[in-house]
Amino acid sequence: MNIAFFSTKSYDRTYFDPLVQKSPHKITYFEDILTVKTATLAKGFDAVCVFVNNPVDAPLLKEIAGYGVEVVALRSAGFNHVDLEAAKTHGVRIFRVPAYSPEAVAEHTVALILTLNRKTHKAYNRVRENNFSLDGLAGFNLHGKTVGVIGTGTIGTAFCSIMAGFGCEILAFDPNKNSRVKEIGGTYTDLEALFSRADIISLHCPLIPQTRHMINRESIEQMKDNVMIINTSRGALIDTSAVITGLKQKKIGFLGIDVYEQEDNLFFEDLSDEVIQDDEIARLMAFPNVLITGHQAFLTAEALQEITKTTLQNLTDYEKGREVKNEVISD
Ligand code: NAD
Repeated sequence: MNIAFFSTKSYDRTYFDPLVQKSPHKITYFEDILTVKTATLAKGFDAVCVFVNNPVDAPLLKEIAGYGVEVVALRSAGFNHVDLEAAKTHGVRIFRVPAYSPEAVAEHTVALILTLNRKTHKAYNRVRENNFSLDGLAGFNLHGKTVGVIGTGTIGTAFCSIMAGFGCEILAFDPNKNSRVKEIGGTYTDLEALFSRADIISLHCPLIPQTRHMINRESIEQMKDNVMIINTSRGALIDTSAVITGLKQKKIGFLGIDVYEQEDNLFFEDLSDEVIQDDEIARLMAFPNVLITGHQAFLTAEALQEITKTTLQNLTDYEKGREVKNEVISD
């Protein structure tokens, strides 16, 4: 298939170039994000390939369908940025990469926890300046702490396994219980018990209407003082202004986020010469106990390899008229 590849970064080409040469497909790379404004670039292509930061809404789907695009190949697992109804209306098929490396995201989640707790980012800078003082670097043992895991799908379960290895007690919440969590000694509970008992709360559920702003003023009030909240799932699971209040009141002791509600206007770009207009992220960045990464939890060699392989396989299956098992269809 003739594929227009949007939001191209150097690491995309590193993994796609060698594999596409061995495939029946041809890729044209664009650095632009795919929008109604840039949609003319997709003219004459059979498929467009987009990343998770690329909203695929009704006007865009109408536009690309008009240019003859048959498929949107998502280089992501999540598809909450796609209007599936509109895709159906315009006859555009949507494929995704369901589970490219749950361990990549789970391990980054642990990296956020350890950095916030043991302050290795501060120690790194201190030691480079010959400052070997330990003042202000005290952390806490993970061993024996209670970790609340919201969402125990592929990533949440991988995270539970790692934290069980640290000797943590695992409390989980998920409407669909996973037997693997019980096997590693975790316990399912309700959200209220999880909020009130956990020392660390980590979010691994999808962004859907029921989970939007699940971390809000009321849920924060139920939490332990000095709680650590970690979000590597989707930004809008957290009500940012409620979390800022919780941090200012010292109710929340630590916040680690790889995703942010308004990340579309910020993440994946070098804005070091720009004046950031988003006051909430600026406020978050000013706290000493907040660690932000720019949606990089997925970014490992293994995950990029899997994303590449599955994206191309989805398109090959479609082209050959086979069932595409990773197709996303509106209910
Ligand atoms: P998954 O579908 O395997 O698991 C999601 C789990 O959430 C399921 O078990 C589901 O039952 C559960 N769930 C659904 N509604 C819930 C609710 N109301 N409360 C609690 N749990 C609920 O998905 P996954 O592959 O484990 O991914 C989890 C999330 O991680 C994705 O939704 C995505 O947003 C995010 N993600 C982030 C990155 C990153 O780089 N930061 C990369 C990949 C995925």
